[in-house]
Amino acid sequence: KPVVAVVGRPNVGKSTLVNRIAQTSDAIVHESRGVTRDRSYYDAEWNGRDFTLVDTGGIEPLKSDDVFSVPIRDQALAAAEEACAVLFVVDGTTGVTEEDESVARMLKRSKKPVFLLVNKLDNPDREEERLWEFYSLGVGDPLPISALHGHGTGDLLDEVVALFPDESELEDEEKPDNMLSIAIIGRPNAGKSSLFNKMIGSDRSIVSDVAGTTRDAIDTVVERSGTFYRMVDTAGIRKKSTVYENIEYYSMVRGLRAIDRADVALLVIDSSTGMTEQDQKVANLAIERGCALVILLNKWDLLTDDNAREHVMESVDRRLTLAPWASVLRISALTGRSVEKIWALADAAAASRSTRITTSALNKLLTDMREFGHTVVDGKRRLRMHYVTQTGIEPPTFTFFVNHPDLVSDSYRRYIENRMRDAFGFKGTPIRLRFRSKE
Ligand code: GDP
Repeated sequence: KPVVAVVGRPNVGKSTLVNRIAQTSDAIVHESRGVTRDRSYYDAEWNGRDFTLVDTGGIEPLKSDDVFSVPIRDQALAAAEEACAVLFVVDGTTGVTEEDESVARMLKRSKKPVFLLVNKLDNPDREEERLWEFYSLGVGDPLPISALHGHGTGDLLDEVVALFPDESELEDEEKPDNMLSIAIIGRPNAGKSSLFNKMIGSDRSIVSDVAGTTRDAIDTVVERSGTFYRMVDTAGIRKKSTVYENIEYYSMVRGLRAIDRADVALLVIDSSTGMTEQDQKVANLAIERGCALVILLNKWDLLTDDNAREHVMESVDRRLTLAPWASVLRISALTGRSVEKIWALADAAAASRSTRITTSALNKLLTDMREFGHTVVDGKRRLRMHYVTQTGIEPPTFTFFVNHPDLVSDSYRRYIENRMRDAFGFKGTPIRLRFRSKE
């Protein structure tokens, strides 16, 4: 699906614009929200074309030492790499800032089509001279918008959608049926390289190296009993070439990009430290992006006493709250313990991720849920769920037609997800629930 990235420094009005676009193309039905602070994804449709809208860096970092409180420019870079068009939002009332300039330089280098949107000009005719200043950014004509009032978003979307590759071209890129993309992610020194080498065993199983979509990415294709596994972005883990591989931030950005291209993420955790906050963030990113997830507790050979093992398992329980459905495997890339089992877990997670549930089975469950009470009421309004149908796979996505989508709280969402998992499994994969209004 084509990706459109919305970039810009905080408070220029990115989120307002995203919301405005959401209302303009009222086919936007879902926001994958909440799990990480630095990017939000929206599925959208305009003129019959589906795309994903990525809102970057809209929220201020909480802590300065947070790995994910990366500079706006770097967040924008990561998003732009995957995008086929970039909406660069600036603030017409403050004029050009240094941060705008640094984002602009990055965008010019990325060679992606950029729409320079000057926000907060509520009277573009009278405030024209404020626009001129933004020509200095060198990313094309500044377009006045008022995210608040919605002037011009429809025309903008027409132009953006026109840049998308032909649908037929997109289909050509579809992976063959028996190809599974796997990303090995985790902190520096967790043992990713060691694991990769162990999984590959002898070089004979390597079919080929292929260039990834980003400049420096190299994927390795491996065949195992008729299935092809594309190990995504193995440049860093096959041969440690640069000091960057050892810097946590770069390793995260790299992992993030790999997640975006993978069906299954293998999150390698160093058991000698346990699951850390960064591990949790990366796990959440994978979930947010709809990637299946397998947790590998590596270096298990180092844990000789029960307390240490207990400590690791406790850290996983505490940090894996968003993915109680993920398989957790204790391995040693050094001794080879349980490494062979990884393939089957990845296969199973990928299969869950492509599961289709019949509409009748889904609505049977819905009827059961209605019978078991659990009603949601808000003042005079009462939530009614009319109908549910599966609207996508990879990950499985379900659309519920309800009378008042806003009555669906997070806890009710979790309740439904749990009921769906009880009924249908989905081991190893996130699922998405959408709620659309229908009287
Ligand atoms: P990466 O940065 O995630 O690719 O980590 P490496 O694969 O380079 O491993 C970092 C260090 O941990 C190396 O010294 C490895 O030999 C060691 N290591 C990796 N896996 C294991 C394991 O299962 N057990 C033990 N004891 N050491 C391991």
